[in-house]
Amino acid sequence: MKVGLANLVKQYEEIAPEINNAIIETLHSGRFILGPVVQSLEEEISQYCGADYGVGVNSGTDALILSLLAYDIQPGDEVITTPFTFVATAEAIALIGARPVFADIDPKTFNLDPMQVEQHITPRTRAIIPVDLFGQMADRLGFAELAERYRLHLIWDSAQAIGATYNGKPLGAYPGIVTLSFFPTKNLGAYGDGGMVLTNDVQLRDKLRLLRFHGSGGGYFYDRMGYSSRLDAIQAAVLRIKLKYLSEWNNLRVRHACRYRKLLPNHNITHPYCNPLAGHIYHQFTIRHNNRDALQKWLKEKEVETGIYYPLALHLQKAYQYLGYKQGDFPHAELATQEVLSIPVYPEMEDEQLEYVSEAIRSFEP
Ligand SMILES: *Cc1c(COP(=O)(O)O)cnc(C)c1O
Repeated sequence: MKVGLANLVKQYEEIAPEINNAIIETLHSGRFILGPVVQSLEEEISQYCGADYGVGVNSGTDALILSLLAYDIQPGDEVITTPFTFVATAEAIALIGARPVFADIDPKTFNLDPMQVEQHITPRTRAIIPVDLFGQMADRLGFAELAERYRLHLIWDSAQAIGATYNGKPLGAYPGIVTLSFFPTKNLGAYGDGGMVLTNDVQLRDKLRLLRFHGSGGGYFYDRMGYSSRLDAIQAAVLRIKLKYLSEWNNLRVRHACRYRKLLPNHNITHPYCNPLAGHIYHQFTIRHNNRDALQKWLKEKEVETGIYYPLALHLQKAYQYLGYKQGDFPHAELATQEVLSIPVYPEMEDEQLEYVSEAIRSFEP
């Protein structure tokens, strides 16, 4: 039996008439960049996430870059983040000329650890970017307290966590800026690139609107330098349809995760740890195994697709050598890169597929 990490075609086919209609309507509207459809999506997503405002942009990466600029992070400033994340988190910091400073993760949740972050705060530190990895929100209370004590900005990279909660509250309920990605494989995915920034501060919202549109508030007048980073109307139309299904899809992911917890052995496999305060939405179901590469090969032979997110910590990547880190600097992140394996957990997965994957893992003898 073939089991992939996602099945975007099946998802599309389940809702094809609605999606097709929304796209065709947009084609007839003649508005293809920003415009009323994007505005409606901004309202709907910010409401869904409990935030006051949403600003649609080109991608999750641009959402991070524009957020850093909205907080006036300058070249030479330091921004602390995790080395165990998708590269965009650190790349955004570096691309605006600031310095990415890494701190180690909590090995249980894989998320940035506030106590590790505190050790790396210097007089040049301006902001922290915790990542809500795999669909589980990072320690909202710990980071809010730390940011307040040291007067730092918080940017939450929630690309993998739309619909997640912490202490029963959604993404937008906590201080700081939230960034989202609509990359096709995210829990809410477009049919192309897209992203959004959420904020409860009207001044930041206005700044972000300028930043995504060449620094212009309208007409050919420019208040500052900006970018060309807007959300397409067709993608917004698709996302508005998909948003109606997001809670149902996230619930299915949670249900699949519960089944895995029952079906998978736990003597040699570490199941994903769930912080009791976190409403995890399982963007990934990531297990740990000390013979991970052999397990992945075994599953591949059985036609089960798996993913390694992420195979090399960012402080050890070639592009970030200039920061001067070395092997051993972040032992929890480094060990995670050796042991993690993400197995299929997408909403459209069938029960037989999940049982097949579980049986394939059970039959693995290292
Ligand atoms: C997907 C992702 C991004 C980047 O999003 P794009 O829309 O692909 O630019 C940033 N951070 C994390 C943690 C992600 O998973």
